[in-house]
Amino acid sequence: MKLKYYNYSLELKHTFRLANYSRNSTPVVLIEIEQDGITGYGEASMPQYLGEDYNSANSFLEKLNLSQFSNTDALEEIFNYINGAAEGNNAVKAGLDIALHDLYAKRKNKPLREIWNIDSAKKLETSYTIGISNRDELKLKIDEAGEFKFLKIKLGSPDDKNLIRSIRELTDKPLFVDVNQGWTDRHFALEMISWLAGENVILVEQPLAADKIEDLFWLKEKSPLPIVADEGIKRLDDLIKFKNIYSAVNIKLMKSAGLNEARKMIEFASGAGLKIMLGCMTETSCGIAAAAQLAPLCDWLDLDGNLLIANDPFIGHEVLNGEIFLNNLPGIGITKRK
Ligand code: MG
Repeated sequence: MKLKYYNYSLELKHTFRLANYSRNSTPVVLIEIEQDGITGYGEASMPQYLGEDYNSANSFLEKLNLSQFSNTDALEEIFNYINGAAEGNNAVKAGLDIALHDLYAKRKNKPLREIWNIDSAKKLETSYTIGISNRDELKLKIDEAGEFKFLKIKLGSPDDKNLIRSIRELTDKPLFVDVNQGWTDRHFALEMISWLAGENVILVEQPLAADKIEDLFWLKEKSPLPIVADEGIKRLDDLIKFKNIYSAVNIKLMKSAGLNEARKMIEFASGAGLKIMLGCMTETSCGIAAAAQLAPLCDWLDLDGNLLIANDPFIGHEVLNGEIFLNNLPGIGITKRK
């Protein structure tokens, strides 16, 4: 197998603002793995706060010797090799995992989910993310969200209730709320969540810092809404360790080091009685199409990362009125944009 990779900068349609920082672009590494004239595509998306960048990804990839594997038949063995090459580096590992799965399924000439016997009859509705905005921007973004059934809102500023009130003047759509660890006091968090429960909010993601184990457990026990782990759970080990302090987990390929472990996390979370959200970073249609192969297994979808960028090099599954329609292309379901 031959490995190629390119650094690429994703340009965001709007400045992306969270509780504690903002950005206009996201660095990604696009990965290609070729065998017998068939190419599998993958992507590592590396928002700054996750600690990976072009340098770390490139030096990880330089170290690898994929030519020792003649084909993708022994996928698990290849993943073990990649995983053992260095600690961390979850996004670049995800990029390799996605490319290998794409290649694996293309060689079998089937959509990846078909190989995994995932029934794709389920309706797949994704949320659409609205970053922290002023009132004029808010109107524009809510209009832009058009027919999407769920909106995802970033909270964690002192003005949270007013933001929700402004949104409620414009739309009554159900909301996913993501606090990105922005609240510090558990009593305040519970008071906010109880109020949000009356505002047609479906779930609350990472209300407190990931290291506040006792407070998160306390909050989960009392909260009227599901408390979803994001920053607090990256990989399967974290899920096993922290399954009792959350009622749900947001699984993202860039955290889980790809599809292989994401599938194991879905299985474990289901067994442990946790709800499952499938999320993403700012990504091209490559990362999103790969995640979407698992979408029928999840409770809530937040797979809009490709819709928020202006220079997507791929075409993936179609999204119409907020619904994802999985195509039947072999592999993860993408073609290169001409
Ligand atoms: Mg989040």
